[in-house]
Amino acid sequence: MARRKKAPIDMRPIEVRRKEWIDKYPDKFLICRQGHDFPKPFPGRRMTNTSIVPWFYDDGRREGEVLITQKCKHCGRVRWRISGPRGMYYSEATKWNYDDPKGYATPPGLGIPRSAYGDEYWRRIIDADPDLTQEVEAREEEEQ
Ligand SMILES: [Zn+2]
Repeated sequence: MARRKKAPIDMRPIEVRRKEWIDKYPDKFLICRQGHDFPKPFPGRRMTNTSIVPWFYDDGRREGEVLITQKCKHCGRVRWRISGPRGMYYSEATKWNYDDPKGYATPPGLGIPRSAYGDEYWRRIIDADPDLTQEVEAREEEEQ
């Protein structure tokens, strides 16, 4: 069996690696880090990007739990949770679990704070609007 080569260790300073990651981070993920677009099913209406199925234990036992799965229609992030038993559908004892699309999660060890994604998001919004950019730059010059 072929041995998998170890990835070379990135020896560049952490700041450089962080900046490289955030600079290349896709807009659609940056937008979603401001809030995902998970569906809000309406009672009686056909659901999209949501499934609710009975949950069975490994031994086939069932105690009324359901598996709720939803997909963000914007970025594809999936969240899922198993309800509490017997109609406790939104039990505080259970939490949402997430399956991230490729390229969404911050690589281990990079330690990029949530606020850095927010900074980048708003920087791109301002940079993409020439009038806003001009206004922000004019204010910055006034302050100096
Ligand atoms: Zn999303």
